[in-house]
Amino acid sequence: MPRPLPTLVASFVFFLILPFALSAQLKQDAPPESSIFGFSPAHAATEHQLETAFQSIPSPEKAREWHRTFTAEPHPAASERNNQLADFVADSWRKQGWEDVTLRRYDVLHSRPRSVLLEMTAPVQFTASLREDAYDVDPDTKNPAVSGAYFGYSASGDVTAELVYAHSGNPEDYDLLRKNGISVKGKIVLVRYSNPYSYRGFKALTAEREGAAALLIYSDPAEDGPTRGKVFPDGPWGPESHIQRGAITYDYIVPGDPTTPGWASVPGAKHIAPEEARSLPKIPAMPLSWRDAKPLLENMNGPEAPKDWQGALPITYRFTGAVKVHAKIDMDTSMQPYTVVEARIRGGELPDEWVLLGNHRDAWAFGGVDPSSGTASMMELTRSLGELKQRGIRPRRTVVVCSWDGEEYALTGSTEWGEQFADDLKKKLVGYLNVDESVAGAATTAGSEGLSFSPSAVASLAPMLVQASKEVRGPSGKSLYEAWRATAMRDTKASAPPLDSALVETRIGSGSDHTVFLNHLGRPVINLGFTGDYGVYHSMYDDHYWMEHIGDPSFEYHIALTRIWGVVALRLANADLLPFDFGFNAAALGRFLRELEQKNKFDSRHLALKRLHGRIAEFEKAGSALREAASHDLLSATASPQKIQRLNEQLLQVESNWLDPAGIPGRPWFQHLLYSSRYTYAHLEFPGLTEAVEKQDWKLAGEQAVVLERAVEKNTRLLKSAKSSWEKNK
Ligand SMILES: [Zn+2]
Repeated sequence: MPRPLPTLVASFVFFLILPFALSAQLKQDAPPESSIFGFSPAHAATEHQLETAFQSIPSPEKAREWHRTFTAEPHPAASERNNQLADFVADSWRKQGWEDVTLRRYDVLHSRPRSVLLEMTAPVQFTASLREDAYDVDPDTKNPAVSGAYFGYSASGDVTAELVYAHSGNPEDYDLLRKNGISVKGKIVLVRYSNPYSYRGFKALTAEREGAAALLIYSDPAEDGPTRGKVFPDGPWGPESHIQRGAITYDYIVPGDPTTPGWASVPGAKHIAPEEARSLPKIPAMPLSWRDAKPLLENMNGPEAPKDWQGALPITYRFTGAVKVHAKIDMDTSMQPYTVVEARIRGGELPDEWVLLGNHRDAWAFGGVDPSSGTASMMELTRSLGELKQRGIRPRRTVVVCSWDGEEYALTGSTEWGEQFADDLKKKLVGYLNVDESVAGAATTAGSEGLSFSPSAVASLAPMLVQASKEVRGPSGKSLYEAWRATAMRDTKASAPPLDSALVETRIGSGSDHTVFLNHLGRPVINLGFTGDYGVYHSMYDDHYWMEHIGDPSFEYHIALTRIWGVVALRLANADLLPFDFGFNAAALGRFLRELEQKNKFDSRHLALKRLHGRIAEFEKAGSALREAASHDLLSATASPQKIQRLNEQLLQVESNWLDPAGIPGRPWFQHLLYSSRYTYAHLEFPGLTEAVEKQDWKLAGEQAVVLERAVEKNTRLLKSAKSSWEKNK
């Protein structure tokens, strides 16, 4: 589903007090063999050998073959093809040597179109094609199984009304319309996708709240078309008929099957009535290409819209006037089975600690980038880890892999699976490594530095991710770390590469399968992927031809992603001491809090955050002190396995302590106190506190600050007691 904001590397430099062991290592170019975070010197040497063996297995040609298989046919959730692919994944994993291969079935309220119609009835008659053009060079574009334009979970409806253009469809756009004396009540609203970006489900809720009768969202050429560069099939951007499908679910309130909020849709589960579901839109809506939107826009004759509302079509964009539209949408909302495929390689020493890998399988059409680039990278990863296992190399911890279903609809498969196994996951899950789109950009237009590596991670895992990137071969032959620094510098137009401490994006929004693990279960997550020019998202042109001719013709980026994914997984699976860095984590929290204060200037009589700052500073000190003590003993090999294990249990508890079972105000499913997402899918730190401050609800903000203080204090106490018991048992 997700097309959150392109991840921008923080363009400013910030200063951190890194824990001793870490900061010493970050200064060195090539860490010595013994210096993998969390590994004793002896185990680090073995790990290096293992990683070298692992990295030589993934093959670009195999990745290309996987990619062709997964993109051969459209495979949306609940389609026959997507279910066949579930069996194919299961069979492949069995052949690759994975264990306990299981298909998990969920019965879900699904959404697919029976019929969709859009016509202009005045001032002239026009019927929208709602279809994309075929191209001879790419026979896949002639596949009759490709759908027309529709949105998952649109309401059904039959509406004829006047058309109003509302720019991006964000609340401030409706405010401007109001100022110009224009109401959208009972009207059909036409908005563009991203200027600035907001999730289409946020646009739908906003239109619904404004009382609009229906919503049309179109792709303006300014955003993902010829204004940006060459269009398909000659380049990565969208041609005139491309349609960005998608869901408009209100999954920022609660994701997953809308009729089982908070519990799993296992066969026989209780379902609420669709009318009671908070995540189901009540407004009919559909996406449009700009070819279909242009006649509507150019026939308007009302007041001219302001300059920043003008798009790149050769017309004057107006608020209203003369255009009447008939929209008819009939959706089938029957229950359908979704299938999550699950497999594992049982850990040789710590089978009850899990490292989870995942990627969604379902696509709006062929899924060239989203998600089948990630699927191809994953299948090479499982093949490579399977081969190591056949050679007798088993990870210390259990590695679990999942092929999710229905991500595009409401993050559904991962959410249901996470809810089903919540108790186990809260106890056992060390971390979740998500890959949605592994290559969401065109290497052919990326310039000499190549595509940007754009991961995001909870702050506690950011330092280990940077360290792992140094060991991974990038597509250019340089290390991934070097390539990452070069593209980060280019993308931020900086004159020097960012500090290691600023490389990883530690703000995490929603819009992919990490959501349940982070926001509902309080487990640490990492998202991995490359990004660049990409304008065919969720259209039928997001296919194998796009990837093979424009995106990643050599498939080298696919396997670079396989390598970093595998190295991070192996480090989490094999580490003596789990490589969480809470000193770094605390520094990031301090920065988030300062950003909140800078963005929302408020009087300290309304809200004082001094005490929270103080608590975070104490947490930082405790985190750094513990890491220093533990790293020292680990490097000098003086800590017993029992002692390390006890500390690992405490480290895992820190992440769990960020959960508030009451949830954030108004959204009880979202329980993480540090991380959530906005309704637009944008990242949102300290969600309860931030939303209260933005509403200027000072009483609630004060309460939320206290909740945070208590959580930070609890974790500081935990780290301090972990350190003293560590030192006692020397
Ligand atoms: Zn996706």
